[in-house]
Formats: sequence, structure tokens, C-alpha cells
Amino acid sequence: MLKRILVTGGAGFLGSHLCDRLVRSGHDVVCLDNFFTSQKSNVEHLLDCRNFELIRHDVTEPIVLEVDEIFNLACPAAPGHYQYNPIKTIKTSVLGAINMLGLAKRVHARILHASTSEVYGDPSVHPQPESYRGNVNPIGPRACYDEGKRAAETLMFDYHRQNKVDIKVIRIFNTYGPRMHPYDGRVVSNFIRQALAGETITLYGDGSQSRSFCFVDDLIDGMLAMMNARDGFTGPVNLGNPTEFTIRELAEVIVEASGSSSRIEQSRELPEDDPLQRKPDISLAKQELDWEPSIPLREGIEKTIEFFKSIDLSTYRAPTPNY
Ligand code: NAD
Ligand code: UDP
Repeated sequence: MLKRILVTGGAGFLGSHLCDRLVRSGHDVVCLDNFFTSQKSNVEHLLDCRNFELIRHDVTEPIVLEVDEIFNLACPAAPGHYQYNPIKTIKTSVLGAINMLGLAKRVHARILHASTSEVYGDPSVHPQPESYRGNVNPIGPRACYDEGKRAAETLMFDYHRQNKVDIKVIRIFNTYGPRMHPYDGRVVSNFIRQALAGETITLYGDGSQSRSFCFVDDLIDGMLAMMNARDGFTGPVNLGNPTEFTIRELAEVIVEASGSSSRIEQSRELPEDDPLQRKPDISLAKQELDWEPSIPLREGIEKTIEFFKSIDLSTYRAPTPNY
């Protein structure tokens, strides 16, 4: 059935890939974004499609729309971006969730919320199942994002219990791919930019901290599977690739795949509250959504390198100053 679907943060990295998939399926797609961490070029190719509409709007303000489904993705996601204006970040998570839940309640729309593995903080349980309640510093530099996302999850479940809003909550683990902002400061974008320029690869700490990297196409499959999951399955459900790498291993893969001669060196201490390890337990996603990622790191990195080679860096806003 064709639906009217709202994607907040729809011009961002994940949002633009989601819009692509929804437009291709024939749905009537409303992409809403304030372009804080993205630019129109991510959705430029969709602007001529009859079933695509772009609205510049900030989710911290209410909006009146008539839709059947909402994907709530609006929020800066990279540490450098969300620490740029931390008060705005937590407002975006909390007020954005309230406004989108209010809209969902009014029009009886199903709402999927993009939460994050950051709700687990620096985890003491490894890998992380959904039942783990996390180890988050509520007053540190990552708290604007982590606690904002935790409060948004609370709001999702309170609107569900109190107002019967049809909610779906996903916890996304590190995802990478084409259309990442080249200056977002995230590890994959930094390393690929540095490798292509022949610059030193900047390890934070000794590079022994770990992450599990999911290619964007796999993630969007999971997101769509969750939106279409059975009634009554609210999540939260982890979506990510359970293959874990140290950051040094990631650097080695990127240097090798890009044929670069860059050296890999520690450039600074590990940032405050930087999680030492992260890896999703995806048993629930396998069981409920029949979903698991299929694209190995090396293949996804090659596709991402191709994207970075194809863009003109001067058309992107410079890095945020504080990371
Ligand atoms: P992104 O920064 O590329 O996209 C976020 C989009 O939201 C951008 O287009 C930005 O301009 C927009 N936005 C920010 N504040 C807004 C506001 N107040 N009003 C309207 N639009 C606003 O990041 P992404 O990686 O595509 O992340 C999308 C969502 O997925 C985020 O909610 C993020 O927290 C979540 N997530 C992403 C990852 C990942 O690894 N990519 C991991 C965990 C969670
Ligand atoms: N990192 C790094 N060098 C960089 C950027 C990041 O070593 O140039 C590390 C960072 O300290 C963290 C990991 O890579 O341990 C992932 O960082 P990112 O900002 O991509 O996302 P996070 O998972 O921390 O939100």
C-alpha cells in the first residue's frame, strides 16, 4: 500500500538513503530538514520526483502535516556536530521527539525513532543486548546526545503507554557509507579523507578501542523491516553489524583499500567518555525482523572511498571547530 511518509533529518546521511528507498517504492515522501549537518546535494536528485517534497523546518518547532508514517531521524549524530551546540542537540532530541509524537498522535501515524548505541554509554556488558541499561555519564561532553536520546526513548514509551501511539524504536550502531559528511569528524570520514590526501591517519588514543561498522544499505534494510514489523513489537531493537574491529584495524583497512601511503599515528589522547568497546547483540533483530547485515567492512569501505573520490570537498562546510 502506498503511504504518505515523513522523514525528519531526511537530507542527512541516513535520511537521504532512506528517502531514496521510499521514493523508489512509490511512496509519497516528505523530507524535513533544517540542514544543520547536511546539504541539499544529498537529495538534489530527488527534487524532480513527483512523489518527493522537501521542507526546511526545525523539529524543535511544531509542524502540522497529514502523514501515515514518520521516521524521526533529525539530530546531529557525529560527536563534533552534536558537541558544537550541546543545548541545541538535547533540544532537538527532546522537543523533536515531543513534536513528532504529538503529530503521530494527532494523525494516528506509526512513528519510528532513530535512537543509538550511545544509550549504552561506555558499556560494561559486551556485546550489548537491548536489556542492558547502559553506563552513561549524565554530565560529560557526550551527555547532550546520549541523555537526549535516552529521554527521547522515554517519551516514545510514555506516549505509547499513555496515548497508544504506535511506536518503533531502533538503536543504531556506527554506520558508514556514501553521503557521510566529509567533515563530520567521524572516524570513517576522517580516515578516508586523510588516506586519500596522503595525510597522517589520526588515531585517538592507542587505537585499541573498538567499534562495529555497518554499511548504510544494510542499516536501511533493517530500518524498513522495523517500520513494517508486526503490531505490538515496539523495540527497542539493536541495528548494527556485529563484526567488531579496533580503530587501528579500521585505519589499516582504509589505508590498504585506498592504496595510500599514509602513516597511522596517535594524534591525541582518547576524548573524554569515549567508549572503549562497542558491539551489538543482534539476536532480537534476527528473530523479530529476520535481519542481519550482509556487506563486509572491506566492501563497504571501497564503496565509501569511491564516494569520497567523487565529491568536491570545497562544496562542504568546514569541520566544526571543537573536536
Ligand atoms: P546526519 O547528521 O547526517 O543527519 C541528521 C540530519 O538531521 C541532518 O540532515 C541535519 O541537518 C538534520 N537535523 C539536525 N537537527 C535538526 C533539527 N533541529 N531540525 C531538523 N533537522 C535537523 O546524521 P546521520 O548519521 O544520518 O544520523 C541520522 C539519525 O540516526 C540521527 O538521529 C542519529 O542520532 C541516528 N544515528 C546514526 C548513527 C550513525 O552511525 N550514522 C548511529 C546511531 C544513531
Ligand atoms: N577516532 C579516531 N580518530 C579520528 C576520529 C575518531 O581514532 O580521527 C576514534 C574515536 O576516538 C572513537 C572512534 O574512533 O574511539 C569512533 O569515533 P566516531 O567519532 O566515529 O564515533 P563514536 O562511535 O565515538 O560516536
